[in-house]
Amino acid sequence: MNCASPLSRAWREVSLDAIARNAIVLRSALRPGCRLMAVLKADAYGHGAVGVAERLEREGFGDFAVACLDEAAALRESGVRGRILILGYTPASEAAELRRYRLEQTVVDLEHAQALSASGVPLRVQLALDTGMHRLGIPAEDVDAAARVFAMPGLDVCGVFSHLCVSDDLSPEAGTYTARQLELYRAALANLRRAGLRCGDTHIQASYGILNLPPLEFSVARAGIALYGVLSDGAPVRRPLPLESALSLRARIASVRTLSPGEGAGYGLAFRAAGERRIAALAIGYADGLPRELSRLGGEVLIAGRRCPMVGRVCMDQLLVDVTAASEAAPGGVATLIGCDGGGEIGAVELAGKCSTITNELLSRLGARLPIVHSPVDRANMP
Ligand SMILES: *Cc1c(COP(=O)(O)O)cnc(C)c1O
Repeated sequence: MNCASPLSRAWREVSLDAIARNAIVLRSALRPGCRLMAVLKADAYGHGAVGVAERLEREGFGDFAVACLDEAAALRESGVRGRILILGYTPASEAAELRRYRLEQTVVDLEHAQALSASGVPLRVQLALDTGMHRLGIPAEDVDAAARVFAMPGLDVCGVFSHLCVSDDLSPEAGTYTARQLELYRAALANLRRAGLRCGDTHIQASYGILNLPPLEFSVARAGIALYGVLSDGAPVRRPLPLESALSLRARIASVRTLSPGEGAGYGLAFRAAGERRIAALAIGYADGLPRELSRLGGEVLIAGRRCPMVGRVCMDQLLVDVTAASEAAPGGVATLIGCDGGGEIGAVELAGKCSTITNELLSRLGARLPIVHSPVDRANMP
């Protein structure tokens, strides 16, 4: 188990207060009565799923989604009582576990529904409809297939949902595609209801569906990345909301040394000191979830509020930064990779953008070795 102080090497600082405020802001952007489902997959996008779920339950939120059975079971084992929907595939062989943990399982296609039903275990399921993403779900046009799921023994269909695949794109073509997805989804719901079937919860919006569409008539909206207060990238959205980023990533300075002109540093000696440079080794590397290409792509850290460029190749457990301009840099000091420090700020969007990825990927890969501490501001507010 952990014996070191969480602040000894590198850590994630998470503000659960910010996440709770984001949840409230997001909910207020929905039609009154529409519930916000907090998407907690991938350890809440690197923010720590159990802490986030507990905080949101205290705030009165009771709808959660994860990607897989293990994530759902971990939430239940830690005492989370709300509804938990598994958005991804779970084989029917796990039916007993789904029931034991009182989970709602997504039906990913007709075969999956048949297998879950054949397990003989009574299950709560939500039916995914494919309205054009072509990933999971029964084709929304195939109302007969959807209706068959309702008739399958042992399956209690408590929701029918879909997923938008271009709702982050503000181009007219994407807008047309999203409108078509909504139309297919609405038609499928209407047809099921006409057949006398009760659809239960209905939802199609994820973060960008909330940020780029007007409030919709469905009973739930699922928020992942926006709940954590960041957007996937720097692109504009139609309905910007006052969301607060909830995660800072910090690492200790392990060692500082001075290189003479012409000396190299790191694997492959990929860095060469053009003049005399002070180089610091930070106690964080790609095994902590940082992209290895970051140093090559202009990655920077904040030390005492000053931006210091990453140099050389990112190592598994360390990375090198040029601290020539930050005279404060000293062993034991703290470098900020994501977050604010001394008036400066490096956002997750900036970091993700440098690596041509989205914050969703960057944040969800953090973790393995990075303890989570709740932010000092939160702790000050605790009873
Ligand atoms: C991951 C996921 C979400 C959350 O997406 P964000 O864009 O992060 O809000 C919602 N629905 C489904 C089906 C997902 O897989």
